[in-house]
Formats: sequence, structure tokens, C-alpha cells
Amino acid sequence: MSDKIERIKCLIIGSGPAGYTAAIYAARADLKPVLYTGMQMGGQLTTTTEVDNFPGYPNGTDGTAMMEDLKNQAERFGTEVRFGLVTKVDFSNKVGGIHKVVVDETTQIEAEAVIISTGATAKYLGLESEQRLIGGGVSACATCDGFFYRKQDVIVVGAGDTAAEEATYLSNICNKVTLLVRKDYMRASKAMQHRVNKTANLEVKFNTEIDEVLGDTVVEGVRVFNNISGEKEVIDVTGVFIAIGHKPNTEIFKGILEMDETGYLKTKGKTTKTNLPGVFAAGDVQDKEYRQAVTAAGTGCMAALDAERYLGSLE
Ligand SMILES: Cc1cc2nc3c(=O)[nH]c(=O)nc-3n(C[C@H](O)[C@H](O)[C@H](O)COP(=O)(O)OP(=O)(O)OC[C@H]3O[C@@H](n4cnc5c(N)ncnc54)[C@H](O)[C@@H]3O)c2cc1C
Repeated sequence: MSDKIERIKCLIIGSGPAGYTAAIYAARADLKPVLYTGMQMGGQLTTTTEVDNFPGYPNGTDGTAMMEDLKNQAERFGTEVRFGLVTKVDFSNKVGGIHKVVVDETTQIEAEAVIISTGATAKYLGLESEQRLIGGGVSACATCDGFFYRKQDVIVVGAGDTAAEEATYLSNICNKVTLLVRKDYMRASKAMQHRVNKTANLEVKFNTEIDEVLGDTVVEGVRVFNNISGEKEVIDVTGVFIAIGHKPNTEIFKGILEMDETGYLKTKGKTTKTNLPGVFAAGDVQDKEYRQAVTAAGTGCMAALDAERYLGSLE
């Protein structure tokens, strides 16, 4: 570990829409933010080609290009964007205390305020064919990509509330939705199951799993198998939505910051304040409900404003 310690005013961890938006606001408020990108520079949107629902792009945009725009905007006001992974944190629990952070296990940073925007990672099944076709018809976000499959047939994989919600959402847009459930029952709430059951163009197949997603560059169908009888069948679909959950990127904050039972950071009321003074959380890392780029950006703005007020109150 380097023995040189750098002292800064505002540290931002993560380079998704929340992190870059926080950086734009923090830099314009003269907090001289330093932002560490993590391994996925630009965040989750760099794994998708078309983003059609972010305001300000009337013709839609490419996810990677959009995140480059956000980065450039943050840098224009003086944000220092650095490639690096925060590997350890030692946050103060005192108002005005200094928060210590280690980057790449070597660089030591001390910050007066920290904005955490480390996002969440969508879970996938892990099949080779599924991984190859992400962006080519395989998606982990129905709200984001459902519109591209309007009037087409799609599959949703999952058994919980999210899967039930995504399946009923898609049933309003798509011609037919087939929901694949691995067990012989759904985990979703009774109310959600009721909604699923009364949706005419939504069929549930229990004890059914994906064997292979078919197609070279785009999804052309899915071969499924019944995990009791072993029977296989091909379902003609153009879209496959994996709805088996997300994992918030909060490992390094365990035991330090308050989290809910699934690892999402807890924030106070309508603010981005965590349980520690001067530590704020924005974006998907604290939001398992909406999980959209625009909501992440919105809370990124809030976190910078909360940080600015916190630092102002110390003077
Ligand atoms: C395939 C796909 C398509 C999507 N399409 C859309 C869409 O069309 N429209 C829409 O609104 N939303 C879409 N979403 C959802 C959207 O991408 C997320 O809601 C949004 O990116 C969340 O932003 P965020 O800033 O909270 O975090 P993320 O985008 O998840 O970014 C997290 C950042 O934190 C960094 N990080 C993590 N750990 C560390 C660490 N220890 N140290 C430093 N950095 C770290 C990562 O490298 C990354 O840069 C899509 C998601 C997926 C997966």
C-alpha cells in the first residue's frame, strides 16, 4: 500500500448515471469531486445498445455513447474521473469526520463526503447461448427493452414478484408472454399470482427451464425442457427476459452501512443520507423498486445536493 494519503472534499464511487450526475452537480457546486469508475466504466447501460427512454434523446441513443456523454459533461465542470475499484472503506461515524477509502488495495483517499453509486448487477442464468445473445433479444429489464418486442412473442424467466410484474407488464405490449417457472409453484405474492392468472395472453409453464436460446446474433426461439419429464420443446419467440433478481454491489459496505435483508443500502426518508454522516447513496444501490437510468440520475443529483448541504453545514 502506498503511504501517500490524498485528502479530498467529495468522493464519488461508481460511474453509472447516478455517479456521473452526482459528479455534474458536485463539480458545479465547487466540491472538486473525484470519481472512481469501478471495473464497469459507464455502468450497466454499457451492456445495452439502444436506450429509448432517457429524456433528451428524441431518436434514442446507444447506451455506451450516452454514458460517454455523461462522463464528458461531468469532466467539463472539473470532475476528476479515475479508473479504479474501491476495495475497502473505513467510514467515520462523527459529523465532520473523515472517511477513509482504499482504491485497488493501494491508493488511500480521505474524503469529507462520499457518494456511493455502485449500482446493482442483474442476475442471469449463465447459459452460453443466453450470454451471447444479451443485447440481441436477451434482456434483464422489461421496462427498458419491452417496447422493442411490441406485438411479438416473448419469454420471461422467474418465479418471484419481479418476474410476475415483468410478465404482466409485457403482456400489455406483446402478443404472447410465456412465463417459465423452474419449480411447480411461484414465489410471487398471491396478489401478483392472481394478476398473472387472469391475464389472457400470459401462459405459465411450471417445472420448465431453458435448455438453449436459439439464434446466432438475434433470438429466434428458445428450446425448453420439463425438469420432471425431460421432455423438450421449441418456443418461437424474439425476446427473452431474465427476471431472477439483482445483486446490489454492496459487499465492501457490509457491517458498516445499514442495508435491507437483500443488501440494498438504506437511505433516510426522501433523502440520500445513509446511517453515517457525510455518506450518501444514489442509484440502483439503494433502489430495488424503479431501477432506471433516469431515476438513478435523479438520486445522483439529490446525493450531490445533500453532500453540498452537509459540507456547507460544517463551515
Ligand atoms: C441490459 C440492460 C438494459 C437496460 N436498459 C435501460 C434503459 O433502456 N433505460 C433505463 O432507464 N434503464 C435501463 N437499464 C437500467 C439502468 O442501466 C440502471 O438502472 C442504471 O444504470 C443504474 O445506474 P447506477 O448509476 O445506479 O448504477 P450502474 O449503472 O449499475 O453503475 C454502477 C457503477 O458502479 C461501479 N462500481 C461498482 N462497484 C464499485 C467499486 N467497488 N468501486 C468503484 N466503482 C464501483 C461500476 O463499475 C459502475 O460504473 C438497463 C439495465 C440493463 C442491465
